[in-house]
Amino acid sequence: MESVIAQRDRLGVKPGQIYVDGAWSDGSGEARIAHIHPSINQELTTIADASEADVNAAVAAARSAFDEGPWPHMGASERKRLLQPFVNLLHEHAEELAFLQTLDNGIPINFSLNTRVSAKNAADIFDHYCGWIDKITGQVFPKYTDAADLHYLTLREPVGVCGLIIPWNAPLMMWAMKVAPALASGCTVVMKPAETASLCALRLTELLQQVDLPPGVFNLVTGGPAVGQALVTHPGIDKVSFTGSPQVGEFILSKAGSNMKRTTLELGGKSAAIVFPDAASISGAAQTVMSLCSTFLSGQVCSTTTRAVVHESVYDEFIAAAQGQLAQVKFGDPFDLETTSAPIITAKQTERIMRYIELGKEEGARLVAGGDRPTEGALAQGNWVNPTIFADVDNKMTIARDEIFGPVLSVIPFKTDEEAAAIANDSDYGLSGALYTTNLARAFRVSKAMRTGSVGINGYSVMPNSPSGGVKRSGIGREGGWATIEAFTEEKTLILNLAVE
Ligand code: NAD
Repeated sequence: MESVIAQRDRLGVKPGQIYVDGAWSDGSGEARIAHIHPSINQELTTIADASEADVNAAVAAARSAFDEGPWPHMGASERKRLLQPFVNLLHEHAEELAFLQTLDNGIPINFSLNTRVSAKNAADIFDHYCGWIDKITGQVFPKYTDAADLHYLTLREPVGVCGLIIPWNAPLMMWAMKVAPALASGCTVVMKPAETASLCALRLTELLQQVDLPPGVFNLVTGGPAVGQALVTHPGIDKVSFTGSPQVGEFILSKAGSNMKRTTLELGGKSAAIVFPDAASISGAAQTVMSLCSTFLSGQVCSTTTRAVVHESVYDEFIAAAQGQLAQVKFGDPFDLETTSAPIITAKQTERIMRYIELGKEEGARLVAGGDRPTEGALAQGNWVNPTIFADVDNKMTIARDEIFGPVLSVIPFKTDEEAAAIANDSDYGLSGALYTTNLARAFRVSKAMRTGSVGINGYSVMPNSPSGGVKRSGIGREGGWATIEAFTEEKTLILNLAVE
């Protein structure tokens, strides 16, 4: 796959730096982190591994931009005038950013250009939050009693300095989902992208530089878990907004308590798609569910419905159609428009997925497709796992309980609606879910029974103006629309005693 190297050279990718207080530098970390492309397992470049001193400097810059700078107090129209041009910059650089994203994590270029993870969607996210800037309002309350001349109103103020930590799988969208609402709310920011996919974050930072925010409002540090840890334990951080694995989310929650940091956690899932016999098309439902596992990011998406809970009367039809979908899967050069699926992000994660596949077999699930890896030609060099279907899965099996984060679908039979909802809810996670039915009453009833942050009825996607997030081990808080503005602001109550002239 020479095109990966060729694209790196065409895009002029250079070794990454950190961005602190309006200036780029190599940082003072001793080591550098190799950026390895998952389709070929070859190093493309390196990124800085920020030191604790670098994190301290970034937090200090954000702290002084918040405590002394104009940004949190700036008039809404001025803040909007500064941020809004970034939307156009994202549109102008949409193609370049899509190619960088494919260099970051191997997502097929067609998806990187054209789906909700694209730069155009990142532009929509920024546009949406720019629209909020002059609408972030408090409340005015009616006078409660005639016994006192007290009047209550609230102001909504930025929460402060925010540590933003994102995962590797959708670097453009994740960066925008955190940075746009934080800046729109008047917060200052230290962003840390994933060590496996920092190229987009670096380029987005260069583009953001062009809109001339005051120094220290936005800072970028790159590196691995130690950098994230230094950020989330730093006393100068007021809020952590994290998207990533539940394991790291739990660690962050345990540390954030030390100075009562506000936390938003968008974590993993083991979502269920319930397929009822009255679905508009059983094969259509099967193809949708299977393509979420087998194409795009190859199941490496938090909301993927990796448990298909299928009525026994249509079970065989579902499995056959899911198997049929695999004919559409095409591995290969991520810059080829025909390629449908991403490699697995690291060799280590590939091994982890293969261990889960072995466990599925050992625990008695019936392997009906996949379960192996390409072993010949160029594909053998990369982290590819063939899309895998397990039938006759019991919801107690490990493959039905753990987030595998790969192209593995577990198909679980059910008899009654109540049983289907119980299976869906019998999970540590509660991120999302999907129902395939044409019966509106059933859809509404079962949606209400599901303990998840969202439920898609006959399909789902994420939009900038509506909230998404999880319950249980899938996280705390919501991202999208006003919910995010609330999460990046505090409500201050003003009490006016009008009895005193
Ligand atoms: P991860 O938790 O390994 O890493 C996420 C980020 O946290 C990275 O930037 C990483 O460097 C950093 N990090 C690691 N250890 C840390 C620590 N001790 N302290 C602070 N930061 C630390 O996750 P990942 O492998 O990059 O992404 C996959 C996970 O993300 C999956 O569980 C997936 O479901 C989840 N995810 C959730 C959503 C959502 O919106 N709910 C979206 C995308 C991905």
